[in-house]
Amino acid sequence: MSSFSIPTTREEVASNVASVPQSPAPSPPRESIGVSPLVPRLGVAAAVALLALAPLVLQSFTVTLLNYIGVYALVALGLVLLTGIGGMVSFGQAAFVGVAAYATAWLTTRHAASPWLGLAFALALTGLLALMLGALTLRLKGHFLSLGTLAWGLSISFLFGTVDGLGNFNGISQIPPISLGPVSLAGTVPMFYLIWAVVGFCLLLSANLLGSRMGRAMRVLRGGNILAESLGIDAFRIRLALFVIAALLAALSGWLEAHLSRYVSPTPYGAGPGIEYLMMAIIGGAGSLFGAVVGAAVIALLKNAVQDWFPVLFPGAPGQLQVVAFATLFILFLQRSRDGLVPAFARFLPAVRREIPPPAAALERRVQPARGSVLLSVDGVQRRFGGLVAVKDVSFDVRAGEIVALIGPNGAGKSTMFNLLTGALKANKGRVVFAGEEISSRPQRAIARAGIARTFQHLKLRPHMTLLDNVLLGAHPRLQAGLVAGALTLRRGEEARARAEAMRLLERVGLGDRPFERAGNLPLGNQRVLEIARALAADPALLVLDEPAAGLRRQEKLALAALLRSLRAENLTVVLVEHDMEFVMGLCDRIVVMDFGSKIAEGLPAAIRNDARVQEAYLGGVA
Ligand code: ADP
Ligand code: MG
Repeated sequence: MSSFSIPTTREEVASNVASVPQSPAPSPPRESIGVSPLVPRLGVAAAVALLALAPLVLQSFTVTLLNYIGVYALVALGLVLLTGIGGMVSFGQAAFVGVAAYATAWLTTRHAASPWLGLAFALALTGLLALMLGALTLRLKGHFLSLGTLAWGLSISFLFGTVDGLGNFNGISQIPPISLGPVSLAGTVPMFYLIWAVVGFCLLLSANLLGSRMGRAMRVLRGGNILAESLGIDAFRIRLALFVIAALLAALSGWLEAHLSRYVSPTPYGAGPGIEYLMMAIIGGAGSLFGAVVGAAVIALLKNAVQDWFPVLFPGAPGQLQVVAFATLFILFLQRSRDGLVPAFARFLPAVRREIPPPAAALERRVQPARGSVLLSVDGVQRRFGGLVAVKDVSFDVRAGEIVALIGPNGAGKSTMFNLLTGALKANKGRVVFAGEEISSRPQRAIARAGIARTFQHLKLRPHMTLLDNVLLGAHPRLQAGLVAGALTLRRGEEARARAEAMRLLERVGLGDRPFERAGNLPLGNQRVLEIARALAADPALLVLDEPAAGLRRQEKLALAALLRSLRAENLTVVLVEHDMEFVMGLCDRIVVMDFGSKIAEGLPAAIRNDARVQEAYLGGVA
């Protein structure tokens, strides 16, 4: 290979770095463009004022419609979080609405309890049920999960109609109205204010949550388990939390609905309505919280319109065909606007200016192991894929403060080796010891938390999240804010420190000029560097980089080498896979060479360059 004939010493690369021309006068940061953050706040204030005035000017029929839109919007909001954010499609939400509605109906009619007690009972019962169902079904993937939700949705709604104590198919009537102290909320208008106050409150809490540490973790779920776990995030727990949150929102809706219509029966909680709730979330825009309200409104109005117009347009046609008309409209809609209404319209709104995170106190750092001590020890590790042995009895050590390269032709087993180090794959044989502890059998998440951070050969970024948020993901295990703290924006200090740190890291890797750009808009080379910033945000002891320089231009490679050198100077240890020999030879302290799954050489760069077996492996493997 020609790159072997380029003798590049570390000093040469270093002098090249020094001569990298400084970038020309920086263009104005993009964040200074856009309208003031005050504008969307004014928009929200105007919407609240309009809603407050609505019952004074609207007819009672319209206020009733708005009440139901609000009630539906709560369920759709849960589905936006569950499906749009978390990527889990549930057809069973109507069953949760039903459990809560029946719970409060039963308690308030059979035991004359206060509706507020009914609320507590409904939330507790639905929450527990969701916890159980979630624990059972959430390990299923993709459409199996959806089928699971359909199955328990159907069986629960079937129960409503068959349990004697719940009034069979007649349901339960004469449910008392909600009262606030001495004030009864029996009428349409008082319920309007209660419902929309609840909707507003839930929107606010959800928005806070999404902007917090746990919300970021929720947005990682769609990137796959390997990504979440490699960041030290417990993907299953976050899924379960999302599932319970969505069920609790459905429960709130069921409680309100029961005391609004003062009557419950099995029909609204079956599979059909379960699908309608999903349609609401999709039509509004499954990724946007406000889409829940828009989707609920569109479906409610559409159903009304079909009911009103169908008999006029098709006189004599059987009423069941209304469902077909409704479905046709839905399909037409999906063809026109796949992402939903809110994202489609939001594109025409001006961007809102965002403030670059101001400097703040640094987050706690780990104590790095003593330079020169053995940090990682790979001992006789083997991994098979069916009949193929991808890694065959490989052993090597890495000492703290070293940069070690793993090289070898394509298919040599380097990425598999990295997956074994980070726990993404389990070895069939052998041990990996990190910082004195055997990690071979520990879950990936635990290994990440122990101090190994990685990047991926096939990048795993969240393309719709900003650069800043992508980097913040890396800091997940270093932060404490849980769900409640996130929803109520407690722990603002911690968040500010994390954001300041993420900003510093973006600057350090050369992406500091556009923290609010979406990661997906970056060129490939920059995306690789962004993954390194994310890994650094974990404050690791060992950085594992799979082909970090692939797709980088020469200047960018030099900058990357300089970055890795400065990290080494801070006692960080690095193991990397790289094909660019000039890069490897100039940067690394030691090189491990693999071919066909086995280690064929190990040593100083100069020795490796002259090793006959290595040259042969490369000429035979790549040429
Ligand atoms: P490298 O990173 O050195 O190019 P890999 O570790 O990606 O090599 O692959 C080593 C060998 O293992 C290849 O032959 C590859 O096809 C195979 N391999 C890797 N991952 C899997 C997998 N998940 N299932 C089956 N075979 C795999
Ligand atoms: Mg690879």
